[in-house]
Amino acid sequence: MSDQASEDLMRRAERLLPGGVNSPVRAFRAVGGGPVFVERALGSKIWGADGRDYIDYVGSWGPAILGHAHPKVVASVQEAAARGLSYGAPTALEVRFAERICELYPSIEMLRCVSSGTEATMSALRVARGFTRRDVIVKFDGAYHGHSDALLVKAGSGAATFGNPDSAGVPAGVVENTATLAYNDVPALEALFRARGKDIACVIVEPVAGNMGCVPPEPGFLAAILEQCRAHGALSIFDEVMTGSRLAAGGAQARYALKPDLTCLGKVVGGGMPLAVYGGRRDVMSLIAPLGPVYQAGTLSGNPLAVSAGLTTLNELDAAAYARLEKVSQRLVDGLRAALEKTQTRGVVQSVGAMLTLFFHDGPVKNWNDAKASDTQKFATFHRGLLARGVYWPPSQFEAAFVSLAHTDADVDRTVEAAEGALRA
Ligand SMILES: *Cc1c(COP(=O)(O)O)cnc(C)c1O
Repeated sequence: MSDQASEDLMRRAERLLPGGVNSPVRAFRAVGGGPVFVERALGSKIWGADGRDYIDYVGSWGPAILGHAHPKVVASVQEAAARGLSYGAPTALEVRFAERICELYPSIEMLRCVSSGTEATMSALRVARGFTRRDVIVKFDGAYHGHSDALLVKAGSGAATFGNPDSAGVPAGVVENTATLAYNDVPALEALFRARGKDIACVIVEPVAGNMGCVPPEPGFLAAILEQCRAHGALSIFDEVMTGSRLAAGGAQARYALKPDLTCLGKVVGGGMPLAVYGGRRDVMSLIAPLGPVYQAGTLSGNPLAVSAGLTTLNELDAAAYARLEKVSQRLVDGLRAALEKTQTRGVVQSVGAMLTLFFHDGPVKNWNDAKASDTQKFATFHRGLLARGVYWPPSQFEAAFVSLAHTDADVDRTVEAAEGALRA
C-alpha cells in the first residue's frame, strides 16, 4: 500500500472516477496496493500526498525528459499563459515549433499538431488510407498506438495488463481491417504482403517497442517494413510517440538511420503538456483539410502553452544531453543486471537509450509472446519492494522505465540498492 493520505484520496476517487483514475495503468491494479497520489514533482523526484519523496522512473510516462518542473519550461509556460491560454487561431509559436520538428526529423516535410498521441496515430491512419485508397492497416502484437478503435487490437501494456486486449465497445467491423503480426517477425510480414499487399494502406510500428516493455527491433526488422511498404505501395508509419526526441534528437529513425513515410510524435515533444504531432511526406500530408479531402481538426490543437513547453524542451536537448541520458541509463542497466546476478534472480534488463525494462523472464524478450511469459507476480513483489524503498517504478511489467536528465549517479545508485533489497524480499 501507499500511504494514508493517498488511501483516503483513492476512496473518494473510486466513487467518481472509474478505478479512481483518469488512465487505467495509474490504478496500480497490476502490482496490487494503491497508487500514490502525487502532490508535486521536481527534478528526478515526486512527492506523495503524505509528503514522502520517491525517485521517479515514470516521468509522466515519458515527457519529463529534462526532469520535473524544469525552470525554463515552467517559465515559458507562465509567459505564454500571461498572453492568453488559447485563441483558436494560428500563432508564430506554432510556426517555430513546426520548423524545429522538421529540422530534427528530415522525414517530416509537413506536419499537424494535435493534443494526444491517440489523435496523432488515428489521424495518421486516416491520411494513409486516404492517400492509398486502401483499408487494411497492419500493426504488431503488444504494440500500443493509443486507444482509437481500429488500433485497439492486441495493444500491449494497459490493455494487456487487464487481460482484455480487444476492448469491449469496438465493433468487429472496425477492426476487421486491422491485421496483426508478431514484432520482429520479418517472414510473417513478407507473407502478409505477398497475400494482401494490394489491400494494405500502411504498417504502423513502434520503432523500439515500449508498450510491452522495452523491446528493441532486431537488425533488419524496421528496414524490412520500409522495403515491403515501398514495394507494395503502402505507407510506413513510425509511431514515435514514446521514442521521439527520447532515443535521439531525431528519434529512433535517426538512431537507426531510416526514413518512414509518416511519423507520430508526442510525450517528450510536448514537454509535459497535451501536444502531439503527425507528419511526413509532403504529398501525403497535402491531403489534409483544408488542402485536401482528409478531414482532421482540433479546438485546442497547437495550443500556445503546449507548444511553448515543447519548444523549450526540445531546445534543451542538445548532443551533450543525449550523451548524458545514455550514460545514466547505462549505469542503471548495469546496476540492475548486477542486482539480478547477486540475488540469483531470473530476469533480463533490456534498454535502448533512456528507456528500459527489467523483465522477469528467462532470456531475451523479442515480442509480445515472450513478454507475456514474464513472471508478473514477481514483478508485482519487486514493484512493491521498490516503492517501500522510495523508488517509483512503472506499475506494470509491460511498461518501460524512463531516465531523465535530472537523474544523478547518486539517484541511480540508491535505486540499484533498493532493487537489490526488493529482489531479496
Ligand atoms: C503513449 C503512446 C501513445 C498514446 O499517446 P497518448 O498521448 O496517451 O494518447 C501512442 N503511441 C505510443 C507508442 C505511445 O507510447
